[in-house]
Amino acid sequence: MREELRREVQQLKEKTGVVPGLGVVLVGNDPASASYVSAKEKACHEIGIYSDDNRLPADTSQVQLMALIRKMNDDPKIHGILVQLPLPGHLSESEVLMTIDPRKDVDGFHPVNVGKMVIGEKAFLPCTPHGVIQLLARSGVKTEGAHVVVVGRSNIVGKPVANMLMQKARNANATVTVCHTRTKDIGYFTRQADIIIAAAGKPNTVTAGMVKEGVVVIDVGVNRVEAPGTKSGYRLVGDVDFEHVKEKASLITPVPGGVGPMTITMLLHNTVESAKSACGLA
Ligand code: NAP
Repeated sequence: MREELRREVQQLKEKTGVVPGLGVVLVGNDPASASYVSAKEKACHEIGIYSDDNRLPADTSQVQLMALIRKMNDDPKIHGILVQLPLPGHLSESEVLMTIDPRKDVDGFHPVNVGKMVIGEKAFLPCTPHGVIQLLARSGVKTEGAHVVVVGRSNIVGKPVANMLMQKARNANATVTVCHTRTKDIGYFTRQADIIIAAAGKPNTVTAGMVKEGVVVIDVGVNRVEAPGTKSGYRLVGDVDFEHVKEKASLITPVPGGVGPMTITMLLHNTVESAKSACGLA
């Protein structure tokens, strides 16, 4: 997909002179957020997207942050705006997200885009759920008529992925069950699933006894667990007991890998689409 996007960026430049631009905002010094932002900027660079990098101190005020977003809303070189979450506690995330012009909301978090997604209209789709859909589609997994069990109901992963999969649309048309912390006996549901999407943020939420033979498993979770003896002292694992579940699954995504790189790819995709639409080409 990144190679396809690189070619699209090249063609857009040749045809219109427009270079897709992504405005990136990182507030504070959280190491995980900083590493996500660096990965996104590197990916932009690799496919020819211009990235406008804004690293702000942790004590940035709401007024300063809103002023930067309004400036990027008005900047014709910027086609997408990414504010890395979470923001420091004194800043209002919802106010920030509401201020981003929905036409530049490449994360797909603005209520206008969320609403359009729910009613099946063209919108910027949130990157992680859209990445999950593309992973399934490009791996040849049919969702139509399949029973998909989503574990997790957050606004950024669980709810949107469930919503996208239940749409009467291509790469969707699934029967969707959503589980969460109040679900009684999650295994009862996951054992019936043709496809499991785990987005709980807890290691071992899905174990081998909870899945049927041949299941397709998409592991969205990213969890740090202690790993004595390693340089960092920790390692990353998903929400699924990969080693045991892989013996029963027909397809399974790894962590790290899998969903993480797809999330970045969909951010690039949305930025390119936004630039095309600004040129009247989409
Ligand atoms: P979140 O906001 O913490 O939501 C977690 C959801 O899972 C909640 O709905 C919660 O239920 C449910 N849950 C938690 N523990 C559970 C359990 N033991 N059994 C069943 N349900 C459980 O997390 P998120 O933002 O959606 O992220 C989920 C995971 O995906 C995290 O590990 C995050 O790091 C990862 N992630 C990865 C990417 C990527 O690009 N790879 C992107 C985004 C997120 P309640 O609603 O009942 O509390």
